Amino acid sequence: MNVTELARQLKITTNELLEMLPELGFHIGARAIKINDSLIDKIKLAYIQHKKKVKFQEDEAKIKEIKISDKKETTADNEKIIHIEDNIIVKELAEKMNMPINRVMTELMRNGIMISLNSTMDYDTASIIAEDLGFKTEKISNEKKEIEKDIEKGQKLEQLLEKDSKKTKRPPVVVVMGHVDHGKTKLLDTIRTANVIDNESGNITQHIGAYQVELGGRKITFLDTPGHEAFRGMRSRGAKIADVGIIVIAADEGLKPQTIESIELVQKENIPFIIAINKIDKPEADIERTKTMLSEINLIPEDWGGKTICVPISAKEGKNIKELLEMINLLSDMEDLHADENRKAIGTIIESHVDKNLGPIATVLIQTGTLKLGDEFITGDISGKVRSMIDYKGEKLNSATPSTPVAVLGFKGAPHVGDIFNADIDRNEYKNLKKQTIKLQTTTSTNPQETKEDESQLQLNVILKSDVIGSKEAIIDSIKKISKPEVNVKIIKSGLGNITDKDILDAESSSAIILGFHVKTNPNAELMAKEKNIEIKNYTIIYKLLEDLELKIDKMIIPQMIREQIGEGLVLKIFKTLPKKMVVGVRITKGKIFVNTIVKVLRGAELITIGKITGLQSGREEVNEVSSGVECGIEFTGETIIKTEDILEFYTEKNS
Ligand code: GDP
Repeated sequence: MNVTELARQLKITTNELLEMLPELGFHIGARAIKINDSLIDKIKLAYIQHKKKVKFQEDEAKIKEIKISDKKETTADNEKIIHIEDNIIVKELAEKMNMPINRVMTELMRNGIMISLNSTMDYDTASIIAEDLGFKTEKISNEKKEIEKDIEKGQKLEQLLEKDSKKTKRPPVVVVMGHVDHGKTKLLDTIRTANVIDNESGNITQHIGAYQVELGGRKITFLDTPGHEAFRGMRSRGAKIADVGIIVIAADEGLKPQTIESIELVQKENIPFIIAINKIDKPEADIERTKTMLSEINLIPEDWGGKTICVPISAKEGKNIKELLEMINLLSDMEDLHADENRKAIGTIIESHVDKNLGPIATVLIQTGTLKLGDEFITGDISGKVRSMIDYKGEKLNSATPSTPVAVLGFKGAPHVGDIFNADIDRNEYKNLKKQTIKLQTTTSTNPQETKEDESQLQLNVILKSDVIGSKEAIIDSIKKISKPEVNVKIIKSGLGNITDKDILDAESSSAIILGFHVKTNPNAELMAKEKNIEIKNYTIIYKLLEDLELKIDKMIIPQMIREQIGEGLVLKIFKTLPKKMVVGVRITKGKIFVNTIVKVLRGAELITIGKITGLQSGREEVNEVSSGVECGIEFTGETIIKTEDILEFYTEKNS
C-alpha cells in the first residue's frame, strides 16, 4: 500500500505518518513510498493505541490542571482572600472586604442585582461581586461547619455503635457517587424499578430518601440521593452511614474531576467501593480506556491483577445490574456488618420535611436496634414519639430493624438531616426535652404570620426544595422579608432533594407553586406537573429566585389596585438593554402616556411582564408625556425581555 493512502486512512498527513512510524516501532525509512501490506494492520493498531495513550495523557493532564489551579487560587494572594459561607448578608460582605457598603451596593447594581444591604446572597453571587472588587473568595461550607460542630456528637454515636453486642447481621448501606451525567440517578432508578417488588396493597413506592432491594434473600439499602453532597451531608454528624460506595463512571468519558473527588471521599472514609463502568451500550464506550485511566491513579482493576472491582454496566438497558448487586453482597461479606436488633434504636436522619396535614416527617436510617411504634426518642433538640412508620413501599410498619430506612411520624418539630436519632434514651432527659419543646412551640406560635391571617390578604403558597440545609434556611429567611402587606408568602413545605411526585400532589392540594434550588425535577414529577398545571421553577442563584417571586407577588397585587389604562403602543425597535432597564422605540397608538406610569408588556394575548416608564424621549428631547400617533423612546425599568412587535399597555394605578 502507498504511504499516502495509509496516511489518508488514518486521517493524518504523509509527513506526520513518516515521522511517527519509528516512534511506533516501524523503521521503513523516511522517504519510503510503499509499505509492505503485511505491516498495514500492525501499524494501524499501533497508531490507534498511540492515539488512545495521547488522549489519556491529555485527560490526565486536564484533571491535574484543575486540581493545581484550585490550589493556586487559594494560596496566591493571601491578603486578598476572603472566606464566605454558603450565604452572606450584603453588609457583612462589605465588612469582610473592609469597604464602604455603598461600593458593594453599586457593584451589585452594576451586575443588575437589586437587593438591600440586609439581603442574603448565595456564595456564587457574593464571589462574583467580591472578584469584581479585587478579592478572591474561598468557601466555608455551612455543612462543613455543622459537621465539625457535631463531631463530638458523632464520636458519641460511633462509640455507642461500637459498644453494640452486634449479634445480628445487617444489610449493607450503599451510596452512589460520581461525575455529573455519568448516570447515578439512572442507575438508582433502574435498580429500584427492577428490584423493588410491588407490594400486595398496591401502594406506589415512596421516595423517602432510601430504598431496599433484595437479591438471593439478602437485602441491600440504597441511599436515594446521588452525589457527594448527600454523602458529605450524611457522613456527617454521626457515624458514617454508608458501608459501600458505587462510583459511576461513564465509559464514553472516563475519569473526570468529580470522579476523582468521589474516589477520594470514599477512600478517606475507608469505605470499600465498586467502580460501575456505565453506558457500555454506547458505541463510543471504551471500557479498556476507563480501566487504563483507573490504573494511572493506582486503582488497578481486578482482571488486570489489581484489587479494584470494576463492573461494566448499562443503567439504561439494565445490563449487568444483577452482577453489580452480587458484587455489593460479596464486598459487604468481607465487612463486619452487624448490629444489635435487641435494643432500642439509634439511627441518622436522612430526609426531613413538614407535611401540611401530617406535620413533620423524617426518614430515619436505623443503624442499630429496633424501632417500634410508641417508642420515645430524641433527635437534636427535638423530642418525639413514634406515631406511625412507613417504608419505601408506602407500607405501614410496626417495627424497623438495622439498616432499614423508615419515614417516621411523631416529631415535635422538623429535625435536621444528619442529626442522630436516638430512641435509647434516659426517661428524665426525654421529659426535660419534651417540656422545652412545648415551651418553644408556644412562643413560636405567637408569630402573627402563622396565627391569624388577615382575611383580605392574598396568600401565595410555596413548596421549596433545595440541595442543602444552608441554602434552604437562607431562602426561607429571605422569603419572609419579601412578603408584602397585600400578599403573604407561605412556605407550606420545605425539604431537601429533588422535586418528586409527592411534591406535585402537595402543590395540587394546596394550590402552591414549587421552587427548586440546585435540585432536579424527577421525570415523572415533571409529567404530573404538566398534567395538573403546577408551576415548577428551578434556580441556581438565590437572588434570581427572590426576584421572580417578587415579580409574582407584584402580579398578584396589581389586580387589587384601581387601574386605569391611559394608552397603548407598539414596540418598533430595541435601542438598548441594560441590567434591569431597556430603551425601546415605541409608536403610541392610543391615548396619552406619562413618565412614571405602569407598563404591561403583551406578546399576542400573553402577559409577559410588568414594569415602569422611567424616562420618555420625543426626538432628542426628554419629555413628560407623549400622545397617540407619535413615535418616542421609552426607558423601561423591569425585566429586560421586551421584543419588537410587543404591545405595551400603559396604566396609572392607585390603591383601592
Ligand atoms: P447523574 O447526573 O449522574 O445522576 O446522571 P443521570 O442519571 O441523570 O444520567 C445522565 C444522562 O445519561 C441521562 O440522559 C441518562 O438517560 C443517560 N444515561 C444514564 N445511564 C446510561 C446508560 O447506561 N446508557 C446510556 N446510553 N445513557 C445513560
